[in-house]
Amino acid sequence: FLPQLVEFCKLRYESDKTEVVLSSLLPVYGEKTIIYQLFQNIVGNAIKYSAKVDNPCVRIEAVMRHEFVCYSISDNGIGIAKEEIKTVFDNFKRMSNASDFEGSGLGLTIVKRIVDRLGIQIEVESELNVGTTIYLWFPNEV
Ligand code: ATP
Ligand code: MG
Repeated sequence: FLPQLVEFCKLRYESDKTEVVLSSLLPVYGEKTIIYQLFQNIVGNAIKYSAKVDNPCVRIEAVMRHEFVCYSISDNGIGIAKEEIKTVFDNFKRMSNASDFEGSGLGLTIVKRIVDRLGIQIEVESELNVGTTIYLWFPNEV
């Protein structure tokens, strides 16, 4: 469902010039609507927060690592300040550089609840004005 999800997010955030690279995709386990919510929030953020840079690019890639399927979702958008990264999952929390973008600060709170429930590890890597990468480590079996 990722290609449809990407089209939906591009429409929603009016970012038709964003290049989205789906480089390799692997199946993951879990209820489809929940996995969809998870990706919609993360891919949506990547598209939203890169929409205003010169050549917006979002890359979605999956690799197999031992007993995990690791997805990375990276963008070349506004990034997150180092000292704020640890607060991204807080309720209603929005970073100080996000005021030009619409949002309620709840997307990643939902993401956090989903990954905790499904035993998925999440990591955020980001540099201000350079971009953000989110890693999702899905357990390979239930
Ligand atoms: P919404 O509830 O509509 O998702 P939101 O996008 O503001 O609103 P979250 O998805 O929870 O909220 O993200 C929290 C904050 O983390 C955002 O407001 C933004 O400041 C920052 N953020 C999240 N993803 C990115 C990203 N890919 N690049 C830059 N900043 C990001
Ligand atoms: Mg969001």
